[in-house]
Amino acid sequence: MRRQLTGAIAAPGMALGRARLVQPNIFHVDTTPLRSDEVEAEIVHLHMALDTARQELHELRGKLHGALAREVGDFIDAHSLLLDDQELLRGLDELVRVGHYRAGAALKLQRDRLAAVFDAMNDPYLKSRGEDIDQVIGRVMAALQQQASAEERKLASRVGEILVSDTVAPADMANYTGHGLLGVVGSAGSVYSHSAILARSFNLPMLVGVRDALSAINDDDLVLVDGEKGEVIVHPTAQDLQRYRTWQREAANEGRRLARLAHAPTKTRDGVHLRLFANAEQSSDIAQARNRGADGIGLYRSEFLFLRQRGLPGEEEQFIAYRDVLLGMGGLPVTIRTLDLGADKADAAGLVIRGEDNPALGVRGVRLSLRYPDVFSAQLRAILRAGVYGTVRILVPMVTHAGEMAAVRSLVRQAREDLRRQGHELPERIDIGAMIEVPAAAIGVRSILEKSDFLAIGTNDLAQYVLAADRNNDALGDLYDPLHPALLRVLGHVISAARRAGKPVSLCGEIAGDPIYAPMLVALGLCEFSMHPGQLLRVRDKLSNLDHGMLRALAPSLVRCYTRDAVEEQLREALERH
Ligand code: PEP
Ligand code: MG
Repeated sequence: MRRQLTGAIAAPGMALGRARLVQPNIFHVDTTPLRSDEVEAEIVHLHMALDTARQELHELRGKLHGALAREVGDFIDAHSLLLDDQELLRGLDELVRVGHYRAGAALKLQRDRLAAVFDAMNDPYLKSRGEDIDQVIGRVMAALQQQASAEERKLASRVGEILVSDTVAPADMANYTGHGLLGVVGSAGSVYSHSAILARSFNLPMLVGVRDALSAINDDDLVLVDGEKGEVIVHPTAQDLQRYRTWQREAANEGRRLARLAHAPTKTRDGVHLRLFANAEQSSDIAQARNRGADGIGLYRSEFLFLRQRGLPGEEEQFIAYRDVLLGMGGLPVTIRTLDLGADKADAAGLVIRGEDNPALGVRGVRLSLRYPDVFSAQLRAILRAGVYGTVRILVPMVTHAGEMAAVRSLVRQAREDLRRQGHELPERIDIGAMIEVPAAAIGVRSILEKSDFLAIGTNDLAQYVLAADRNNDALGDLYDPLHPALLRVLGHVISAARRAGKPVSLCGEIAGDPIYAPMLVALGLCEFSMHPGQLLRVRDKLSNLDHGMLRALAPSLVRCYTRDAVEEQLREALERH
């Protein structure tokens, strides 16, 4: 009988296939305590399972080639690092030796302790890292019970399947996709998880948080994953299948149409060239940016290097990461944003001040970097050294006044002199730009322009500060409005000032990748957009259908609107006219 379940959309699209249930992370363990004479044998048992899990990850990494190796390698490395984490290993040994727990029970207890720490985190990105713990412990547990690897092999050999599980490890996701997996349904999980990011870049429909999935779906049930509506339909009816076929036809047509735009220039109907850059956090974004014909990377969020691991990444590690991004972009410009920690992005290394009353108004972005000149200089040195492998630009987040840009420039000068003295090769010039995301920087943009080679407007933050509405607070969704006339005026002011100064200005907040806002941004004079690479073709498509001259003529009256409705009406009328 037809049954419909709902969940959150982690990756869009639709898929029809047979369900394959995998329950690796439901831990049933023997809780009877060990006798003293069993302890040492249990320790050996535990360490053999840890070794098997390490070996499995090592083999998985060896099997990945080309783009997949780059995209998934980072995740596998993160899991391998967890397996070598001294605190975790010490804790496990102690539970077996001192607490007389069996290996399985010790693993479960450690898992529960760590899960509680992640659950308590406010940042949704960090919170979702709790999934990694489950997946790593699940792998060790499977090795201990020697059962799940047989299950995985069974799954890996089949095509046409929808994976139904609690959460899926990124490495498994890559493995299964290579074997014909069509879609994923998670009973738990988060749209911020690495697996969700991967699913989006593999174009694999994925729903998470489908609460009853594991009880309502059986192996081999026919299921339709609807990543457009956020539904899973078990035993779909003829009507459901009809809808799926319509979607398939439309998706194929749309895909073919958009694919033709991948390497076309971005040009409006009246022939004005615009530039589309990609926002990137990891290597998969670089691959996607190249495939979709981005003009470069407009925002590389370097803090993700700092968030992914416990300690601070050193100069050498950063140099390699930045160099690889530059190599990946094959000479196109790459804009590396310096560390933007603070507010909702707390690092594990402890740079960020904990317990600030208003962290979004606290020591974040360049304010934090300038408090740690050694850490900051290591990053600047790494960027400068990487600069000889392509075209790199430095972007400074959370700038409030020109003095901060002057301070950064002086640190870059110093780093350059030191590197030259130490015999490093260096790029001849490197452009340094300011992010405009603080209202004071936007209003006083002329003085910031004097100290900047280019600007990037961060509307995610600028909107929250102009509108005094927390970007992460769902309850303020109505207030957090990119079409608010005050925000429009601020954007218009910044873009015009940069144009008058003859300096490039781009916009890299989420609205740059939303085709709905494209006409407004073009009207305000924006020529450079930076967005998630997955949005590039849709935005290029939208921009190619706009008339630049007509929209630019609208700018003076648009910034004089008093209400959001008036803004919308003006845009609608103008678009209907042409
Ligand atoms: C922004 O604030 O618009 C931006 C691009 O930066 P982030 O989202 O990383 O704060
Ligand atoms: Mg920002």
